[in-house]
Amino acid sequence: VWIREFVTAVDGGRPAPSVASGRYAEQFGGRLVLVTGAASGIGRATAIAFAEAGARVVAVDRDAEGVTRTAESAWLSGAPQAWAETVDVSDEQAMEKLAEKVAAEYGVVDVLVNNAGIGFSGSFLDTTTEDWRKVLDVNLWGVIHGCRVFGRQMAERGQGGHIVNTASAAAYQPSRALPAYSTSKAAVLMLSQCLRAEFAGRGIGVSAICPGFVHTNITSTARFAGVSHEEEKRLRKKVTRLYGRRGYPPEKVAEAILRAVARDQAVVPVTPEARGALLMSRFTPRV
Ligand code: NAD
Repeated sequence: VWIREFVTAVDGGRPAPSVASGRYAEQFGGRLVLVTGAASGIGRATAIAFAEAGARVVAVDRDAEGVTRTAESAWLSGAPQAWAETVDVSDEQAMEKLAEKVAAEYGVVDVLVNNAGIGFSGSFLDTTTEDWRKVLDVNLWGVIHGCRVFGRQMAERGQGGHIVNTASAAAYQPSRALPAYSTSKAAVLMLSQCLRAEFAGRGIGVSAICPGFVHTNITSTARFAGVSHEEEKRLRKKVTRLYGRRGYPPEKVAEAILRAVARDQAVVPVTPEARGALLMSRFTPRV
């Protein structure tokens, strides 16, 4: 404990404690949690929230430097142990190797968060085959690989577990600007529900998290190709009006992820406009 306090005092690296520190300690203390896309944004916030609840954390990302920083912050935030693994989730063999290594060195994962993803915008006619492959490789295949390699280990162990997949409100809200991204997320949403049905008898829960517009690298660097400049300005203004200049914080999505696992929720829209869009999609598809 004193080493942690010393490092924190010198480094100032400990993020502000969130709601996870107390509320979920009983549920996740000592559990092994693996989060992909953990170098930044929602994944980083999620790794830290689990760490605050006392979980052992494996942070995975293709960004080696970023994921090392997250593992350090997780340790400083209360994780008894935290590791960084540099892996591209779209690479099936690398994911298989990762699963073998994690099982051999740290144990079978109790909670898996398949969160790594990339943004892509552009109208259907402007989206090339290569673009489609890039988006589907990471956003869909990355989730499939994660569910398969770690889900199999959970099933074989026979002690339950939980898988969270980060989908998006785009999964059920059609948009002419995001056909490839939205299609990848709709697939993740359906995959999560199918897997939930298959794994129910094994005590393994599966949740799909559907955030609306959250302030992270994906959204701050996103180009709204396929929409006019005026439309983009209007969109950004709307988001600012809804959540203020700093936007909807990734920490609140992390909180929703911990809650989804704790309560075994199936589909979780996060942010008010994501909840509104889900409600609307039940009546009629909207563009
Ligand atoms: P982000 O860019 O901050 O984080 C994404 C992380 O995934 C990055 O660290 C990146 O390096 C990593 N990553 C990308 N491709 C990878 C790969 N092939 N292998 C391993 N790691 C990879 O963005 P974010 O907003 O935190 O995104 C996290 C997830 O949330 C994504 O799946 C995204 O689609 C989803 N999402 C985000 C929003 C939003 O508004 N920010 C809304 C809905 C859904």
